[in-house]
Amino acid sequence: MTLLSVDGLEAGYETGQVLFGIDMEISEGETVSLLGRNGAGKTTTIRSIVGAETPRIIDGSITFRGTDLLACPTHEIADLGLGYVPEERRCFPRLTVAENIHVAATSVDDPLPESEMFEFFPELDQIRDRDAKNLSGGQQQMVSIARALVANPELMLLDEPCEGLAPTIVRQVEEGIRRINEERGVTVLMVEQNVAAAMAIADRHYILEEGDLVNEVTTARLREDEDLRQEYLGV
Ligand code: ATP
Repeated sequence: MTLLSVDGLEAGYETGQVLFGIDMEISEGETVSLLGRNGAGKTTTIRSIVGAETPRIIDGSITFRGTDLLACPTHEIADLGLGYVPEERRCFPRLTVAENIHVAATSVDDPLPESEMFEFFPELDQIRDRDAKNLSGGQQQMVSIARALVANPELMLLDEPCEGLAPTIVRQVEEGIRRINEERGVTVLMVEQNVAAAMAIADRHYILEEGDLVNEVTTARLREDEDLRQEYLGV
């Protein structure tokens, strides 16, 4: 069953068009990544979907369970079941880890149990009473993901969740996201520069180049095809 459908999406900013016709279909329960070099338009695609700091939509359609997202006010998009973890992590600096998660849980009608967040990210359990401002970048990232997850989304959109994190933390974030998908059935669409992290989390990948989708591959294919990685991603 298709959860998210993007058809012929064209979008941009005052400075010019960035996306030139993006088509994506994501089914319930999938883990999908959007890969591409710097400036390819990955963040613009994800922002178009969630209506955040909206790029200007020029053409195309985006539907979630058949609901037209482009006709939906930004503040209602979360209520439809979309959770968004932007590149810049979102925590309240003067609240503790547990309070940050609690505030996110109380902002929705049907949250997941807050205690579950500490199972997905065991490191957070050890620092639950620490203020968010005193956390490392990786710990803040886990809090941001936990805050989005506790709101019980059907689809989580994550923008570069592993960006700038130490390798041991990257593995914890990868593991947490994978378990969210496997154990909670949450569908995942992530943007990554870190191809290894994208392959560790997602089963399928769309490759973007200068605002066009140029390929769609499985993790198995991406893993074995070095030429493909070199051509589109430079890795
Ligand atoms: P990155 O990893 O660098 O974020 P990306 O693939 O996510 O790359 P986007 O952030 O979507 O790419 O940017 C695509 C293009 O749109 C770039 O040329 C960028 O400079 C431009 N752009 C992004 N945000 C804005 C904005 N708010 N106003 C004007 N131009 C923007």
